[in-house]
Amino acid sequence: MAATSSLLADRLSAVRQRIADAATAAGRDPNAVRLVAVTKYAAPEQIREALALGVGDVGENRVQQLVQRAAQLGEFHQRRAAAGEDGYASKLNWHMVGRLQRSNVKQLLPHCDLIHSVDSLRLAEEIDAQAEKIGKVQNILLQVNCSEEDQKGGVAVGAAVPLAESIASIPHVRLLGLMTMAKLDASADETRTTFRRLREIFEEMKFEGIAGDNLRHLSMGMSNDLEHAIAEGSTMVRVGSDIFGSDSEENAE
Ligand SMILES: *Cc1c(COP(=O)(O)O)cnc(C)c1O
Repeated sequence: MAATSSLLADRLSAVRQRIADAATAAGRDPNAVRLVAVTKYAAPEQIREALALGVGDVGENRVQQLVQRAAQLGEFHQRRAAAGEDGYASKLNWHMVGRLQRSNVKQLLPHCDLIHSVDSLRLAEEIDAQAEKIGKVQNILLQVNCSEEDQKGGVAVGAAVPLAESIASIPHVRLLGLMTMAKLDASADETRTTFRRLREIFEEMKFEGIAGDNLRHLSMGMSNDLEHAIAEGSTMVRVGSDIFGSDSEENAE
């Protein structure tokens, strides 16, 4: 059913190839790097096409849009996957990658498999309270501001390990790892340093036993810097524009 020669199909396979090449160049297993397709600028039709091409991890940066799309596209995906149609991932996972307000947590939780952007104890505690109400343990990542930009979300580098330790003891939250974003206009060296910093925090947490065996993910790398992220140990790259185009105008038909 999927038009395998479409622009989106070509872009998606190019991104998958870049991930595989970067992993191989780093001496890593390409299957150890998961692609999260960030759909914030994508039209629903494009997302359906991506799902038909086997995308099983979808990321949004706004709660409203994630909730709405999880409902619409979740049902679409389930019908196709249940009918055994070729090409569909067995499960569709929704990732919240954008900044999250405590007031939106309740709405988000029933629809979200992994929250990448937890950056305070108060937010983690709100997730805990709302997750308990619906009988869920919510998977999360701690976002760290490794590029040290003022306007960026994320906990400061120096505060990350103590915060991770506090969050790891919260019962309805499961801390799976860390997330960061590099500066948009950074040089290759700066980008590498940002990603290396996140890996060092991860290694310190491992060494101290924080989050135990749950600790396994580094969410870092986007369209323009995924190679650097994979070289520094990324296990999840979040790619939007190189799959779907860079804005909704381009995507309007
Ligand atoms: C938009 C976004 C991405 C994807 O960025 P691209 O440069 O379009 O690949 C990744 N992570 C977050 C948090 C985003 O908001």
